[in-house]
Amino acid sequence: MRVLVTGGAGYIGSVVSARLLERGYDVTVLDNLTAGHRRAIPAGARFVHADLAEGAMLPHLLDEERVEAVMHFAANIKVGESMRMPMRYLGDNVRNALNLLDAVTTVGLKRFIFSSTAALFAPSDSPIGEGDTIEPASPYGESKLMIEQALRWLDATTGLRYAALRYFNAAGAWGNLGEDHRPESHLIPVVLKVALGENGKVGIFGDDYPTSDGTCVRDYIHVVDLADAHIACLGALEQGSRAYNLGNGRGFSVMEVVEVARRVTGHPIEAEVLPRRPGDSPWLVADSSRIREELGWSPQMPDLETIVATAWEWHRQHPRGYEE
Ligand code: UDP
Repeated sequence: MRVLVTGGAGYIGSVVSARLLERGYDVTVLDNLTAGHRRAIPAGARFVHADLAEGAMLPHLLDEERVEAVMHFAANIKVGESMRMPMRYLGDNVRNALNLLDAVTTVGLKRFIFSSTAALFAPSDSPIGEGDTIEPASPYGESKLMIEQALRWLDATTGLRYAALRYFNAAGAWGNLGEDHRPESHLIPVVLKVALGENGKVGIFGDDYPTSDGTCVRDYIHVVDLADAHIACLGALEQGSRAYNLGNGRGFSVMEVVEVARRVTGHPIEAEVLPRRPGDSPWLVADSSRIREELGWSPQMPDLETIVATAWEWHRQHPRGYEE
């Protein structure tokens, strides 16, 4: 089966592409390389350098590449940025996804996997299941919700079968694939850059949240576990559409992550408390029992130390990320 992976030069998309290839799928990566890296595209994938904003070429591309399923990762991904530049999310992200869905329905494709987010849920102080209250706290979360809703209607009206995977926090590295955003804003790589001596200290965005130590709590899941969940969903699409929450079910505060990174790296990693980052939820932890029960998926690397250790290994081997 040939799968089109949009954003396949990015962090999660590249790992999914590599795992698909390992399992014998054919992969075409579509990426505009504004945030992705050519070097992250796994050998063995075909590469189309294109932008989803140019919707008119998409039906032709799907036909020409004989695409049978689409996995859509290409998007702006920063909660904080979405509060400052909402139209990058409510505009670009939504428009690009709709362009893709327009093409998918035009050519009659029936399989679609969407990278969604935990950020569409209302904050909660217990693990969040699929039935919990949906109430995005940012334009980023809202943009993902808008596409989930479009998918629901396309399922009902055109027979498109989709899976929406609400990621909690993807982390870790796999082989020669790791996290390299410019500028980096995600907690684990930011912390590891301090350990590498690239940045002086890590800023902690708020220590006055209603959590055990006042810093935000997140559920970190290894990127390869996320990738394997996509492949499990692809295999199950024929039985119907679904949306799953994907995490390990354990929360770690920002301070705890910094402490784990200190242990794993052996570096002191200086931290300072800064004001809150608008749009952040205090506590986001997944209840992933539904995907475990329905698809038999379970994380193979649930331990945060292991997750951080794989990321650390990658950062040490790639101190300048994907740059030469
Ligand atoms: N965070 C932080 N300092 C940083 C980056 C992130 O304190 O330099 C916090 C952020 O406020 C959030 C958590 O770490 O509570 C995870 O943020 P990240 O951007 O990694 O992922 P998000 O949860 O926003 O998807």
